[in-house]
Amino acid sequence: MSTYHIIDEEKINKLLIEGKKASKSEVLDIIKKARDCYGLSLEEVGVLLQVEDEDLLNELFQTARYIKETIYGNRIVLFAPLYTSNECTNNCLYCGFRMENKLLHRRTLSPEEIVHEAKAIESQGHKRILLVCGEDAKKTHIDHIVDGVTAIYENADIRRINVNAAPMTVEDFKKLKKCGIGTFQIFQETYHRETYKKMHPTGAKKDYDYRLTAVERAFQAGIDDFGIGPLLGLYDYKFDILGTLMHSQYMDQKYSVGPHTISVPRLRPALGSKLKEIPFPITDEEFKKIIAVLRLTVPYTGMILSTREAPHLRDELINLGISQISAGSRINPGGYEEDDRDATQFEVNDERSLDEMLRVIVKNGHLPSFCTACYRNHRTGEAFMELAKDAHIHEFCHPNAILTFKENLVSYASEQTKEIGEKMIKEEINKIENEKIKEETIKRIKQIEEGQKDLYF
Ligand code: SAM
Ligand code: SF4
Repeated sequence: MSTYHIIDEEKINKLLIEGKKASKSEVLDIIKKARDCYGLSLEEVGVLLQVEDEDLLNELFQTARYIKETIYGNRIVLFAPLYTSNECTNNCLYCGFRMENKLLHRRTLSPEEIVHEAKAIESQGHKRILLVCGEDAKKTHIDHIVDGVTAIYENADIRRINVNAAPMTVEDFKKLKKCGIGTFQIFQETYHRETYKKMHPTGAKKDYDYRLTAVERAFQAGIDDFGIGPLLGLYDYKFDILGTLMHSQYMDQKYSVGPHTISVPRLRPALGSKLKEIPFPITDEEFKKIIAVLRLTVPYTGMILSTREAPHLRDELINLGISQISAGSRINPGGYEEDDRDATQFEVNDERSLDEMLRVIVKNGHLPSFCTACYRNHRTGEAFMELAKDAHIHEFCHPNAILTFKENLVSYASEQTKEIGEKMIKEEINKIENEKIKEETIKRIKQIEEGQKDLYF
């Protein structure tokens, strides 16, 4: 099936040409309009992506901070990836797992080994996992994923498992839905067909259209939380951000549900990569602009940042609109047991442990959240978006962040983290406006202190 109707390259190029023509006051008008939190059109995105003027960029950043604060408050959700296999029959030029990389130590975990890793992740204090694997029809087929997910739910206190895997058939997506995954995540890598073709010379991943339509099949199978994203650095970021938003708009218009999350992975060096350098390098300033533009354009869509980024930048990007980050990550199968650098997908940039990360987050005035309530209360897809847009979601998310952070402090945190964390919890409880919810939160905090777990609204 061709997908030229989903990603219209000619239109993207035109938007970028038109975008350059906007005057300073037109740019300011768009930024001002974004403050209403209704999002922006692709034409407006075309304009913002072309902004280079320092004053305008500052205005953009300030507005992104305002929207982030208005919609998400100071919460930041945490998760960790669990790599179940680095075996792969594709040959993505940029990835350490590509088939022709003979330097890589290959391994596919059994369900028991997957549980072992999940428990190690849990022992850091995580409750949310992103399962990741290469694509190999014999090794990482749907049963490998479903068995892994099921084994984790049955044997570890992990409350939400999201999956990042290759595109599947509707039948396989149904199996994934049935075993209770949260979000199905898949990155198009680049929306630019020519570049996509060059980057994916062999293997099933060659098929641009089959990949682009994966989230549609997931949706048809009942998975209404899906995540998308570009791999930034493969092609012109302005094109790929517009491609991502066009993809998002297509899903929204056709199914009334846009992506639950957009990820912003930036290309990293990888052992055995075929790329000698990043084809389209992105500076940190440009990266900040990307995050800010996305926050203005799709204010209610979660935005995920991984440990591909450096510590100082990650701390800054949280303010600009990131709503979820990974921490304490290992990106090789079995990595939480043995950190084998010759088995990883790319080079991690932020090696801080979850406990350390929690202290940094709190010191920067953010509230860590391990909440998984929406998905377990069936607040997903359209239902989630409606609640989010009415801003009711905040009423649940804030106390849930407090409760789950408290549980983390009681069960997993170091003394140092407990000390500043407890102080923050007291302050956050005082911020709850609804008296009933406040009372109930205080009651549940006591119950957590007495040993109860998994309390949420
Ligand atoms: N194998 C599946 C696939 O490609 O869709 C799923 C997992 S793959 C390990 C997850 C993502 O890692 C890819 O979609 C790609 O965007 C990202 N990735 C691959 N190589 C990377 C690199 N060198 N730097 C940063 N991200 C990379
Ligand atoms: Fe395989 Fe995914 Fe890496 Fe491509 S990005 S080589 S499909 S693991």
